[in-house]
Amino acid sequence: ESLDKGLEKTKESFFGKLGRAVAGKSKVDDEVLDELEEILITSDVGVETTVKVIQRIEERVARDKYMGTSELDQILREEIAELLTENNTEDLADFKLPEGHRPHVILVVGVNGVGKTTTIGKLAAQFKGKGKSVVLGAADTFRAAAVDQLKLWGERVGVPVIAHGMNTDPSAVAFDAVKQGVETGADLVIVDTAGRLHTKVNLMNELSKIKRVMQKFIPEAPHEILLVLDGSTGQNAFIQAKEFTKATDVSALAITKLDGTAKGGVVIGISDQFKIPVKYIGVGEKVEDLQVFNKAEFVDSLFK
Ligand code: GDP
Repeated sequence: ESLDKGLEKTKESFFGKLGRAVAGKSKVDDEVLDELEEILITSDVGVETTVKVIQRIEERVARDKYMGTSELDQILREEIAELLTENNTEDLADFKLPEGHRPHVILVVGVNGVGKTTTIGKLAAQFKGKGKSVVLGAADTFRAAAVDQLKLWGERVGVPVIAHGMNTDPSAVAFDAVKQGVETGADLVIVDTAGRLHTKVNLMNELSKIKRVMQKFIPEAPHEILLVLDGSTGQNAFIQAKEFTKATDVSALAITKLDGTAKGGVVIGISDQFKIPVKYIGVGEKVEDLQVFNKAEFVDSLFK
């Protein structure tokens, strides 16, 4: 399965280190816990979440008086599964739009290079494949490449892409995309945005403006603000999550490029720290490598 393959590096790195940490030891002691702490931090789980996990294991050791190193895998798995489920979000089994309103409008945010355009293309392909009609809006009007790339996805998937000239007002593109979605009775409108983070006030203003114009057609739009993060950047993904959640009301996360990185622990740390549901993960370049995030499957895959 591509999830297993995508998480291979994270798994190998994590369990390789864990294996070495407990080699020749039968009991989980302070030394093992110190090493575990370091392993979690170097797997990009994040300091806060690592401290939480270690504390929970310490509590269990204190309570049970003894913990064998052979049980450590299973206990870690339980603790991580519990952390992931604490934000109480439903596990998605498939690409599905919420019932009721149409079109469903998703605003996609994130810095350049994280896989925003690719994620939008893959989402369009997945939903189109399920018989949904999709409209894309290329509101990243600052990069010609981003617009071209989205158009390419549009052609490939067979969905319309609304685009204006370079350096035009992004909110005008968002306006036209939602307008077209409403007029054609589309199921889904996905709007790409520019990923400039260095000017936070501008980013906030730009996103507010985009939201305002969408609301001229649909008062509840955007129904989702999806932040795309590059999982292979580890701590940078945490920083971006922090900045974007300050700038706008991010409602879901997509974490890309988990294949080819040992930093897959970011999914656990970010999910725990931000309490925003991870909705999609990217484990490769192909359309089917964008998957809906399922906590149980993720943990299974990591501990298989
Ligand atoms: P944007 O600047 O945020 O729009 O980023 P792009 O969508 O252009 O993606 C940047 C690069 O990352 C492209 O080469 C994508 O093919 C690649 N990419 C995106 N998602 C994934 C993923 O899940 N796995 C891998 N291996 N590559 C990805």
